Amino acid sequence: MKKKIGLHWFRKDLRLTDNPSLALLISQVDELVCVYMLDELTLLEPSLPSNQERLGEHRVNFIHQALIDLDVSLQGFGQQLIVLQNNGLTPLLNVIDSLEFTDVSAEWHCGVNEQSQWAELKKLRPQLSFIQENGSTLFQASQFPFAIENLPASFSPFRKKVEKYCQVESLSAPIQAMPASSICQISFDSIDVNRLPTSKNYYAALEGGETKALEQLKYYLWDTDQITTYKETRNGLDGWEFSSKLSAWLAQGCISPKYIYHQLSQYESERTKNDSTYWLFFELLWREFFHWNQYKHKAALFSKSGVQGVAKASSADLKTLQCWQQGDTGYPIVDACMRQLLRTGFMSNRGRQLVASCFVHELGQDWRYGARHFEHQLVDFDVASNWGNWQYLAGVGADPRGHRQFNLVKQTEFYDPQKSFIAHWLS
Ligand SMILES: Cc1cc2nc3c(=O)[nH]c(=O)nc-3n(C[C@H](O)[C@H](O)[C@H](O)COP(=O)(O)OP(=O)(O)OC[C@H]3O[C@@H](n4cnc5c(N)ncnc54)[C@H](O)[C@@H]3O)c2cc1C
Repeated sequence: MKKKIGLHWFRKDLRLTDNPSLALLISQVDELVCVYMLDELTLLEPSLPSNQERLGEHRVNFIHQALIDLDVSLQGFGQQLIVLQNNGLTPLLNVIDSLEFTDVSAEWHCGVNEQSQWAELKKLRPQLSFIQENGSTLFQASQFPFAIENLPASFSPFRKKVEKYCQVESLSAPIQAMPASSICQISFDSIDVNRLPTSKNYYAALEGGETKALEQLKYYLWDTDQITTYKETRNGLDGWEFSSKLSAWLAQGCISPKYIYHQLSQYESERTKNDSTYWLFFELLWREFFHWNQYKHKAALFSKSGVQGVAKASSADLKTLQCWQQGDTGYPIVDACMRQLLRTGFMSNRGRQLVASCFVHELGQDWRYGARHFEHQLVDFDVASNWGNWQYLAGVGADPRGHRQFNLVKQTEFYDPQKSFIAHWLS
């Protein structure tokens, strides 16, 4: 019988635990090659009227760290990670054509680019068998009591339906072994994973990779029990401890949302169950909502009038944009948050709401420039959550109220009463 040779294309699934596409491929092939394409999103996002690069240094660093970690894990199974420089699908097709591959797998992802790349690959190499499982969300579309075209327009009805009708499925079986690699038989240009440049992170613990993701979850739940006060602390502005900090690992798929859910459930049954433990699940449901919202609305997520298709007047003034980006607007709380973002690649959820509200309302700017800057700077950039939240705050997205403007003075009094956060970042 003809040998089955499989290729797993790592994209936003930089992990081995609960990686259903990889697990399924492994169960079906005799040989395996693992590939990642560097910078894939920088080239392929829908174009916008600002020339800021999409992938900034904080996220590049995080991704490099995650790839190095993944390669080490793969080596434990006699495998290695082949890193290709992205140039459309060409490098991947070259690898596929260099050997007689029979099967290709990749994780399902809600993003427009991920969807279209996958469709293109299937079209270009129709002779292959394709595997695409979804480990990137808590639920499968088939579990919802509605078709995706009828996804509720806002979060609350979505949450209520999901909580009533859907159960998070169990994790995919742990990988015990991997087929041998066929890599010695292939010749093509790849980048040595260990030569990928990395630098020290502002938050030492925020290092890319599955190893650190699992450590952080363990730390937040089992080692420190910080999860038990999450609901009270989650609106903090500064520091490591006030929220889970899982977002960057989730965004690169170093950890799956289902894995977090099952750990949380175990924690609730073995240690403590309270409003805070529920609230982490509640926030994961926001992520879930935005992911399906992206899948439903596709490119409308990037359009000025949003998924609602409403026209809102705004300017696109480069100087104002630059002042906001550099933390020079004159609104202290906003400036502190924006400087924190520049320096660390991270900003709290409260901070993100305030700076976005200021950009749209006080400064009267086109929300897409703000979203684009976040896309460049954020270590945890996630297309669905970022553009979905920005639309929400700009009044063109999944918000039934249609207008949300934060009172920056009141918010400062409430969330930074001693002005210590402002003092720290504006000094
Ligand atoms: C304008 C704006 C842009 C944003 N851009 C992103 C982004 O690019 N990537 C990103 O992961 N989150 C984004 N968020 C959501 C949220 O701010 C971050 O997920 C959160 O601050 C990350 O910190 P954490 O992991 O400690 O979150 P926690 O408070 O510990 O929450 C746990 C997890 O729940 C999810 N979550 C929490 N709040 C939200 C939310 N409002 N929307 C979607 N998911 C949520 C995240 O996966 C997060 O890791 C954005 C919010 C706003 C207002």
